Amino acid sequence: MAGPATTDLTATIGRVNYELYMSAALAEAREAVRNGEALDGAVAVLDEALVARAHPQVATTGDPTAHAVMVVVREAARRLGRADLSGLVVFAAVEPCAMCVGALIEADVDGLVYATPDTKAGAAGSVAPGRLSVVSGIMEREAAELRLEAARRR
Ligand SMILES: [Zn+2]
Repeated sequence: MAGPATTDLTATIGRVNYELYMSAALAEAREAVRNGEALDGAVAVLDEALVARAHPQVATTGDPTAHAVMVVVREAARRLGRADLSGLVVFAAVEPCAMCVGALIEADVDGLVYATPDTKAGAAGSVAPGRLSVVSGIMEREAAELRLEAARRR
């Protein structure tokens, strides 16, 4: 399990507006709940530009790998026309699972920022240092409120 703000990303991604991009990820998470998906959302940022945004599509497509981070990595690669996503930072509402963290590493994504830890499936705390910079706890309270809201809907 990752603690808060485990790595300083400023050297890697410059003066990124964490809350601006996390707000976009949380908006995707709200959309996911509306669609009957698990609560999560992700956006991919390159040079302070939002290149892709996604929410989980597991229930709607029947693809068990269509987590928010997987979908946003695929979409960013498609839009940029390259499999190497170095320079990108992915913002996620919830700490990604082992599969998603693996995808971020395989794609050479520079950084991961997430709002709230996933104590059951979260795998960002086990990332080998240097391969992926991780920052957690950005807008954590908003994400927690969203979780409560989603739990009440079920
Ligand atoms: Zn995942």
